[in-house]
Amino acid sequence: MTYHDITPDDRKFMDLACKLAEENVNAGGGPFGAIIVRNGEIISTGVNTVTRDNDPTAHAEMNAIRSACHSLDRFKLSDCVIYSSCEPCPMCLSALYWAGVKRIYYGNTKEDADRINFSDSFIYKEIDKKPAERMIPCIHIEGTTAIKAFDLWEKSTDKIVY
Ligand SMILES: [Zn+2]
Repeated sequence: MTYHDITPDDRKFMDLACKLAEENVNAGGGPFGAIIVRNGEIISTGVNTVTRDNDPTAHAEMNAIRSACHSLDRFKLSDCVIYSSCEPCPMCLSALYWAGVKRIYYGNTKEDADRINFSDSFIYKEIDKKPAERMIPCIHIEGTTAIKAFDLWEKSTDKIVY
């Protein structure tokens, strides 16, 4: 089996993620669903609850990550894969990297999302810009005490490294 082979199980889990997305639309939510799987077992599911929860971070993948980490009682998902009904946005992609999942499967592409006005390509462009030149200016304040926390962290002997 090569790295990119899609198995019947992959299709089954993807179908489920797509079903969740459809059900979420019927329930008044966004058209996105995700499933996190470990060793062929579903650990968590997530749908987009941005408008229901008034939470701009409540994308399907984020909700699935939170739920999986809660269930497994850990902050890494390195033995898990995710099936998302849509290609992850920059926030979810980042979160999936932080979680360290093994693989990301997706259904709709970001071009498909563009077509129904869920565009995230501008964020990728923003990342490449100089911080102060972004649509949301990111301003570095020099001379703060921010470094103290870093010093504390470096010296700490009972920290949980992640
Ligand atoms: Zn997202």
